Amino acid sequence: MDNKTITVTSPLLPSLDDFIPYLQDIWERKWLTNNGHYHQELEKALCEYLKVPYISLFTNGTLPLMCALQALRITGEVITTPYSFVATTHSLWWNGIKPVFVDINPETCNLDPDKIEAAITPRTTAIMPVHVYGKPCDTQRIQEIADKYGLKVIYDAAHAFGVEMNGKSILEAGDMSTLSFHATKVYNTIEGGALICQDEKTKKRIDYLKNFGYADETEIVAPGVNGKMDEVRSAYGLLNLKQVDIAIEARHQVAIKYREALRNVEGIRFMNDMPGIRHNYSYFPVFIDVEKYGMTRDELYFKMKDYNVLGRRYFYPLISEFSTYRGLESAKKENLPVATKVADSVICLPMYHNLGEDSVERVINLIIK
Ligand SMILES: *Cc1c(COP(=O)(O)O)cnc(C)c1O
Repeated sequence: MDNKTITVTSPLLPSLDDFIPYLQDIWERKWLTNNGHYHQELEKALCEYLKVPYISLFTNGTLPLMCALQALRITGEVITTPYSFVATTHSLWWNGIKPVFVDINPETCNLDPDKIEAAITPRTTAIMPVHVYGKPCDTQRIQEIADKYGLKVIYDAAHAFGVEMNGKSILEAGDMSTLSFHATKVYNTIEGGALICQDEKTKKRIDYLKNFGYADETEIVAPGVNGKMDEVRSAYGLLNLKQVDIAIEARHQVAIKYREALRNVEGIRFMNDMPGIRHNYSYFPVFIDVEKYGMTRDELYFKMKDYNVLGRRYFYPLISEFSTYRGLESAKKENLPVATKVADSVICLPMYHNLGEDSVERVINLIIK
């Protein structure tokens, strides 16, 4: 039997032959960063592809979270989810903001709107939800709560590249949304990210913030950082954008195969498509019911590993379990029963555009037993 390692993800790479002319052009222009030609081209192309009015490119997906908080002058407490990648909460901490964890909905794994209001205090200034696995949050309910209490909403949309709701970009929800273009994401620029906003004035402020706060040659208007994306990665991003739709469709086909095969397996739950949503199939999480499946999540995870099939316990542990955050009142397990249960039952199966049929078979056979 072929026992080659099946990784949990594999990056979408542009063809090297296609990339070389871009590199030659960059070498000729001798303009490597600071809003260069390809940087501008990529911002334009992404606005069009994502159907958003304004986008600012960043060197990764963490800095736009940090800069969004700066741009909106968020302070005090921010309501967020423990069921995410740790960068979501880190961005609050780096801004001197206290994260307040609220539990998630068991079906969507997203922040549960029913539990937000109870966590609001006079110090609350914003909500930072995550579109986990690219599944849209209940953006309408969240906005209603935000409006009622005068809060800002910043979406960590790192998983939600290209996701649309009734033909509109999910990135239009809230005050701002951030993307990650890390190598492991649906669309990548090796490392990279972006901040999406809805008006030109805000875009300008974000562009100052990502360039040390420079407004012009001699004027600094904010304690900015260096978050600029360079020309090489911008060009790479332009090339990858041309093939991302094909990659998403290939992921969709993998999801269809997983769902068909796992539909009748006792104790295995997975997520179905939602009506009116254009999904990006960024992850394929399955949730194990120990009693019905007869094996714990970790037993399955390590069994897969023994057979060279790498899943990922994503998200586990919860952010609220890490030493930096577990002292917070809102980090207590009793406050987060759903998130705790989901984190203990989840495995993300291998999912990428060129995952072969025999590999999908191997993964399925291991789960069916
Ligand atoms: C990947 C990711 C980030 C961080 O993005 P980087 O590009 O790795 O800095 C933030 N939030 C979530 C939910 C992510 O998955």
